[in-house]
Amino acid sequence: MYTASYWEQNAFWEKKWDFIIIGAGIVGFMTAQMLKIKYPDADILILERGILPMGASTRNAGIACFGSISELLLQENEENQTAMLDLVAFRFNGLQRLFEVVQGKDIGYQTTGGYEVFTSEEEDKYQYYLTQLERINALLEPITGLKQTYIPKDEDITKFGFRGVKHLIYNPAEGILHSGKLIFVLWQMAQKMGISVWNQMEVQTLVPSSSSVQVKVSQNTLYASYVIVSTNAFAKTLLPQLDVVPGRGQVCITKPISNLRVKGAFHYQEGYYYFRNVGENRILLGGGRNLDFASEQTYQFGFTEIVQNTLIKLLKEMILPDITFEIDHWWSGIMGFGSEKAPIIQEVLPNVYCAVRMSGMGVAIGSKVAEKVVSLI
Ligand SMILES: Cc1cc2nc3c(=O)[nH]c(=O)nc-3n(C[C@H](O)[C@H](O)[C@H](O)COP(=O)(O)OP(=O)(O)OC[C@H]3O[C@@H](n4cnc5c(N)ncnc54)[C@H](O)[C@@H]3O)c2cc1C
Repeated sequence: MYTASYWEQNAFWEKKWDFIIIGAGIVGFMTAQMLKIKYPDADILILERGILPMGASTRNAGIACFGSISELLLQENEENQTAMLDLVAFRFNGLQRLFEVVQGKDIGYQTTGGYEVFTSEEEDKYQYYLTQLERINALLEPITGLKQTYIPKDEDITKFGFRGVKHLIYNPAEGILHSGKLIFVLWQMAQKMGISVWNQMEVQTLVPSSSSVQVKVSQNTLYASYVIVSTNAFAKTLLPQLDVVPGRGQVCITKPISNLRVKGAFHYQEGYYYFRNVGENRILLGGGRNLDFASEQTYQFGFTEIVQNTLIKLLKEMILPDITFEIDHWWSGIMGFGSEKAPIIQEVLPNVYCAVRMSGMGVAIGSKVAEKVVSLI
């Protein structure tokens, strides 16, 4: 039978950490880094259940965006204008903050601009968005610094070779990045700063007491002065009181395509579908959660026929209509949603904080979320 040695017990398990962060995604790494800057002498440990992060940060589309016009109008309608503008500012400033931490060239960042795509069936919606364009651009100018954040750009449809697309609305401030490299770089930075990262450590329960928080993993129990839960979609498994539900995103990438004309980031149907070029010659396409919300509200990685078939149909009929292509690879990732789009950043139990519910926008807001949780401690 395996038991911890005296040395292991003494040096690893019984050590009292200043901070334990649960979850090694964008938020976990950013939080650890910002805590280390605020408290240089602190002992900080990140616990991650996977060998690599097993949530969304290394499994997303890598689009650095802050919302298409349809998403913004939807949120304004469902919540209110202040909530919508606060979130746009949080995302936009989050992206600026991200680039204070990492260099664009190290994470494959390109300011390609982004487009929202409208087909002929969406003509009425598009015409409505046009009536709102000037108002929304004026509201966003103090945030983005752009007179026109959203610009009608139908002339680019032929450039990309789309079929069935009737209108495009362009946002020059969007870009694309390499999600794997982003986490790789953040991980290396953490190690250089003396932050410990332990993998294959699934936290099972958190027990706050007067002197410390007990963090129970299957192997043993750890102790920390403060715990930060940055498990996003999976937050409820440790903190059942939180309003966070999972939402799976299924993604595919094509094999290299010669003379690929599609360049940039694209959003379709209020952001339920997203696609972009990867390198010079591949297309990544994901989404379709709205086809079957119930099945996609899951913690399980995996695929469904309805989503896969719809994504392939979109590629064949709209995005790459005149091109023979093959799918190289499929994967999925799990996002965290709730009744509101804003993240939950608060002390939930004594000395236990959470920074969760990224609503599918963690690339943009992750650094600001980390900054905010660190400001509470
Ligand atoms: C398909 C897809 C496409 C996306 N596209 C974009 C995009 O283009 N732009 C954008 O801004 N955002 C996008 N997102 C959203 C973005 O990826 C997430 O919002 C962001 O990565 C969340 O980061 P996080 O650190 O909060 O959570 P995560 O990256 O999910 O990290 C949480 C970590 O906690 C770990 N964990 C969970 N439970 C435990 C436990 N009990 N013990 C230990 N570890 C645990 C998980 O394994 C995971 O690694 C997309 C997401 C998906 C799935």
